[in-house]
Amino acid sequence: MTQDFDLNPTIPAAPADFRSGFVALIGRPNVGKSTLMNQLIGQKVAITSPVAQTTRNRLRGILSTDQAQIIFVDTPGIHKPHHELGKILVKNARSTVGAVDLVVFIVDGAVPLGKGDQFIADFLVKTEAKVILGVNKIDQRPDKRPEILASYQALATQNHWQLQEFSALAGDRLPELQDKLIQALDPGPYYYPPDLITDQPERFIMAELIREQILLHTRQEIPHSVAIAIEQVNEGEEITEVRAAINVERNSQKGIIIGKKGAMLKTIGTAARQQIQKLIAGKVYLELFVKVQPKWRQSRTRLAELGYRLEDN
Ligand code: GDP
Ligand code: MG
Repeated sequence: MTQDFDLNPTIPAAPADFRSGFVALIGRPNVGKSTLMNQLIGQKVAITSPVAQTTRNRLRGILSTDQAQIIFVDTPGIHKPHHELGKILVKNARSTVGAVDLVVFIVDGAVPLGKGDQFIADFLVKTEAKVILGVNKIDQRPDKRPEILASYQALATQNHWQLQEFSALAGDRLPELQDKLIQALDPGPYYYPPDLITDQPERFIMAELIREQILLHTRQEIPHSVAIAIEQVNEGEEITEVRAAINVERNSQKGIIIGKKGAMLKTIGTAARQQIQKLIAGKVYLELFVKVQPKWRQSRTRLAELGYRLEDN
């Protein structure tokens, strides 16, 4: 019974030559930061992305291989008028850059180096961050590629940055980029369980708190065929609204969780809400609903949406 309440998935000991670290993705809007992160992780971080802009937390994506663990920090998008851009960039970038081991400065390889990029470059030089210049979108404008690349190559050489061209969308040259990233990191431990693809600590714990209440209240009837997806978190001034789906495999399990006239779901919801309120130290409105997802444990898409990483074979 005790394993049902284990809230700490195992973090393995890293081998001697293991490398790890936090890598910030920095760049102008639309250069492909989020696309790159999703591609490198290998799966879209589906449930977290729609609210990435609205939460305090930056969206993180975790890439684990046998040699390394990279935690990508995708900086939020900037949707402000141009004159505001500089201020906001600096504010976002400063806090992120100071907290990571490496920066991938991503530029749009379909156009030559511009003012916005130069602004970010100047900022990065001042912070003394370790930088790799990532020239994305090389699938576009193949005709202009040599001259465009030359403008970025000059910037990289001037600042002693490594440069890697790639196409995040087409998946071209991403292994080369990944190798460069790993080589640039220091030896280190696993920071997260290797099967986790996104680090949303609060959401992860919220989901576990809900699961815990289900296990607690339904006892043996609903064993391990339940998965919680935190679908939305809205942080308001007064109250945080949390919407979560309880995924089960069969209609009979749905019936048990909902209970007579919804009594069981209410009990679970009330208890979980109290736990989550402690977690975030604030008022919570918790909306729970039960979804029947037959064979969700066999569905790659569903597992990805639920935040699990899958191996290819
Ligand atoms: P972000 O604002 O930097 O996070 O940029 P996104 O990842 O949201 O990408 C912005 C747009 O650029 C999207 O429409 C992507 O599909 C597109 N994009 C990203 N990478 C590439 C690429 O390698 N090639 C092309 N052609 N488009 C890309
Ligand atoms: Mg983005």
